[in-house]
Amino acid sequence: MAHINQNYLKLPGSYLFSEVNRRITAYSASHPGAKIIRLSIGDVTRPLAPAVIEAMHQAVTEMGTFEGFHGYGPEQGYDFLREAIAQHDYAARGVDIKPEEIFVSDGAKSDCGNIGDIFGLDNVVAVCDPVYPVYVDTNAMAGRAGDYQEELGRWNKLVYMPCVEENGFTPVPPREKVDIIYLCFPNNPTGAVATREQLKAWVDYANANGSVILYDSAYEAFICEEDVPHSIFEIEGARTCAIEFRSFSKTAGFTGNRCAYTVVPMELERDGAKLNSLWNRRQCTKFNGVPYVVQRGAAAIYTPEGREQTRASIDYYRKNAQVIREGLTSAGLQVFGGVNAPYIWLKTPGGMGSWDFFDLLLDQANVATTPGAGFGPSGEGYVRLTAFGDAAATVEAVERVKAAVRK
Ligand code: PLP
Repeated sequence: MAHINQNYLKLPGSYLFSEVNRRITAYSASHPGAKIIRLSIGDVTRPLAPAVIEAMHQAVTEMGTFEGFHGYGPEQGYDFLREAIAQHDYAARGVDIKPEEIFVSDGAKSDCGNIGDIFGLDNVVAVCDPVYPVYVDTNAMAGRAGDYQEELGRWNKLVYMPCVEENGFTPVPPREKVDIIYLCFPNNPTGAVATREQLKAWVDYANANGSVILYDSAYEAFICEEDVPHSIFEIEGARTCAIEFRSFSKTAGFTGNRCAYTVVPMELERDGAKLNSLWNRRQCTKFNGVPYVVQRGAAAIYTPEGREQTRASIDYYRKNAQVIREGLTSAGLQVFGGVNAPYIWLKTPGGMGSWDFFDLLLDQANVATTPGAGFGPSGEGYVRLTAFGDAAATVEAVERVKAAVRK
């Protein structure tokens, strides 16, 4: 008889977004006239840049010819894209990353989840709390998280690092020894960023303890403040202790196109093995590359037109974030994030629970948010709002929330 991976049976249901949708659907059914504005969506809504579309059209045309046809591509990505990434995302910021250190993939979600394949099951894993659920669930699936404690909303073998108002939503290295550390900046869901000094403390900790930092920088394109680091590799010492994940999803509206990349430096070694070689082996065995047409589209964001057009979309979302942040602040609410990130982390007034405040805003303002408690125990008392919606709808949503809060 075949046996299943028992760890899957320990996973709690994927409660958060299904419960959000269930409540919105139930509310709409009982209030048929209600025009609900969703500030809960974590997906982009603006169309692809014309430069991307043009490049993809050209690539499709090539694929219809004998000379331009592409079958299986290199598992690590085409050179034209790896070189463009090395040059524009790293060299341009003074960071030396070689194309051989870049692995193009179909998503940062897949990479964050799959990276666990190259690590032993006996590692102690630290995650932020609140957190992007993929880091937690994939470790639980592998058997590194122990057992789920329903009443506490956490796994007993994971080390949770509270990200709360007191530490500016950025944790400091723990006193205990942890082996694998997931960091995500700009952060989903809090919208927080880490300073150079904060990241340096993590890099020093990881190098001193032989830990590996898994740095998710999927929202890097939203960084606008001068002194905020865009990459963990801007920090001295990171090449011997960090892996970085980036994505074209939020940078260039590629959520439906699927293209991302992971950087594994050549110097990163554990147990005498190069992690770059292990990841290469893993990808070559289990992954057959991103479609040629999609990679051509991704490379187009590095052309002058592509750069300008994708920047315009980011600016559009950033303006939404500013409208939300300033509008809610003017209503006397306490908000975090939304400056270098598309997420605004709103503290519920009067110590209300996340789900109660979610229900209140849905009912009184017809605005959907995401309850912070769904991202981890320390998310209780917050809701997450996103800047990925339509500008006019965002303005209206903020006015409605202000009116509801005044009441
Ligand atoms: N990392 C974080 C922190 C995210 O919030 C998301 C998507 O919401 C991803 C990764 C997924 O990126 P991709 O679309 O490249 O899989």
